[in-house]
Amino acid sequence: MGRLELPHLTALEPKSSVSTNSTTSAEDESYIINLVVNVNGFVQHASKIRSWGRRMWELPGWQQAHHRLRKSLPGYCAFCLAPAQLGQGWCSTCFTELPWNIQCCEQCAEPVSQKAQRLCGRCLNEEPALTCTQANLLYQSPIKELVHDFKFNASSRAGMLLAELMLTKMPSQLGTALLAVPMHPQRARERGFNQAQWLAEQLSRRTGLPLIRAKCQKLAASQRTLNRRERVANLHGAFSLTGPLPAHITLIDDVVTTGATGNALAAVARQSGAERVDMWAVARTPLGNN
Ligand SMILES: [Zn+2]
Ligand SMILES: [Zn+2]
Repeated sequence: MGRLELPHLTALEPKSSVSTNSTTSAEDESYIINLVVNVNGFVQHASKIRSWGRRMWELPGWQQAHHRLRKSLPGYCAFCLAPAQLGQGWCSTCFTELPWNIQCCEQCAEPVSQKAQRLCGRCLNEEPALTCTQANLLYQSPIKELVHDFKFNASSRAGMLLAELMLTKMPSQLGTALLAVPMHPQRARERGFNQAQWLAEQLSRRTGLPLIRAKCQKLAASQRTLNRRERVANLHGAFSLTGPLPAHITLIDDVVTTGATGNALAAVARQSGAERVDMWAVARTPLGNN
C-alpha cells in the first residue's frame, strides 16, 4: 500500500510554510507526519471504495437494488422511474397507460362489453348485497405488482400510491362512515398488518368520514382456489359487527376478486342496521364473464 508515502511528506515538509515559528518541535513534526499518513491512507481507501463501488454496480443485484431504492423515493414515477409529475407518485405517460376500469358494472365493478350496460349478467341474475362498487383499476400489471409490494413487503409508499389512485375518482356517494374489510387476528399477525384497514385509515383522513370496525372471527381457508359458491360458503359466519350502523356506509378493500367477501360483509352490515352498503376498492379482478 506504500504506507508512509515519504515523497508527500517531504513535499509538505518546509517548516516555514507550515508555521511561522521556525522552532517547530519534534512533537509538531510527528503530528504532521501522522496527519499526512492518515490523509494518504484515507485517499487510498477512498479510491479503493470507489473502485469496489464501480465493480459492485456492474452486478445485476446492485442495479436492481438501486431501482428499488429509486422506486421507494418520492420524485420518481413508481412505474417507470422517470421524474414524477409534481406532487404525484407517477409520470403522466404511466398514469394514462394504467389499466383503468372504465366500462364496468355499477354494482360489482366487473368490466362489461357494452357501454350502455349498467349491470353485468351476474348482478342481473342475482342481486348482490352491495349497492355500488367503485374500483378505478383492473387488477393487472403494474397495479398487481404495486398491490403485492404493499401487501407482502408492507411498502408504505405503495400503499400511499394505491390510496391516491383510489382518490383520483371517488365514489359519487360515500354515505356517512367507512368500514375496512376485517382480517382474522391470526392472519393480521402473520402479515403484520391489515392492508384494507391501512387504506381505510388513509381514506378516512382524506374524506373526513369516521371509521367503523368489524371483526373477522373465522379463519377461513384461502379463497384463492375456490369458486364463487365455495367462497360464499367459506365466509359464512366470518364477520361480526356491533350495530346499529348508519344508514349508508362504504366498505374499503384493496382488491375485489369475486365480490364474495364484500357481499358477505355487506349482508352482515345490513343485518346490523345499514340500509345501503357500497364498496370502494383499488382494483377489480376481471372475471371475463361479460
Ligand atoms: Zn412513469
Ligand atoms: Zn355486476
